[in-house]
Amino acid sequence: MYTSEKAPAKINLTLDALRKRPDGYHDLEMVMTTVDLYDRIDLTSIDGTSIQLDSSSGLVPQDERNLAYLAARILREKTGVRKGVHIRIEKNIPVAAGLAGGSSDAAATLRGLNRLWKLGLSLEELAQIGAEIGSDVPFCVYSNTAIARGRGEVLEPIPAPPKCWVVLAKPSQGISTADVFGRLRVDQIEQHPSTSHMVDALKKQDLKAVIGSMGNVLEPVTMAMHKEVSRLKEKMHLFGASGVLMSGSGPTVFGIVPKESRAKRIVNSLKGFCEQVYAVRMLGVHRSSLLD
Ligand code: ATP
Repeated sequence: MYTSEKAPAKINLTLDALRKRPDGYHDLEMVMTTVDLYDRIDLTSIDGTSIQLDSSSGLVPQDERNLAYLAARILREKTGVRKGVHIRIEKNIPVAAGLAGGSSDAAATLRGLNRLWKLGLSLEELAQIGAEIGSDVPFCVYSNTAIARGRGEVLEPIPAPPKCWVVLAKPSQGISTADVFGRLRVDQIEQHPSTSHMVDALKKQDLKAVIGSMGNVLEPVTMAMHKEVSRLKEKMHLFGASGVLMSGSGPTVFGIVPKESRAKRIVNSLKGFCEQVYAVRMLGVHRSSLLD
């Protein structure tokens, strides 16, 4: 038996840090959505009880350290299932990029195995299990548009952005999320994005207001570490993207563009400066059957 799932990349339309908690993590408030750049997870039943994994990319672990492997293991522990599975990850989302690729692979593995093993779990139940893997995993289980609070695991669904295109550019160097948060000083944040302005803009389906409400408090922190982030932002603006922001802890920079033709022109112009550039549709809603 076999099934397949799409694991879309997430972007942050906003990312705010409210305070540092006694446990060392930050309380966050983020508006997250998805774009049509995805990994593909193929799940095949195998004899025995082992979990096997391989990936098209040498940049991700091919063993139990892979978040998709961890998802399969935790799902088996929670449900008592003792079936074997082969997980194949076709990796398209840049790694260590601020696009939650690993979390989305884990979430897609949970959704796919729920179907393959006929577990009958709801998305809510899968999200709860996902929270044990990582704080972005619950969001990725839904892969919709949501306000994420706490460490990112407390979710409130909101309307998806209006139709538009997103240009993504990933500087060559990856980044450690822990490193970026380690350097963040909440009391020195100069400008907090407004979650309520962003939510209003999404409710009104007003793309200009969405662009005007974008903000990420981690951007100056990552920029101080990686010059390429500000260089790419400038170039994206120059080539005609309307709203340009770093996603998550970076270093990927994305720009919002209303029309496909302009998005593709921007990609061509950026290619000389950056190897990993993409023009993709904004998604924002989870398409339940993931192989269209
Ligand atoms: P986030 O936005 O959630 O911080 P990210 O996009 O910055 O995530 P990922 O691409 O998810 O980062 O990868 C971070 C690290 O997780 C990688 O360095 C990699 O070693 C590890 N990892 C484990 N499983 C995966 C996977 N399936 N895909 C990508 N990375 C994985």
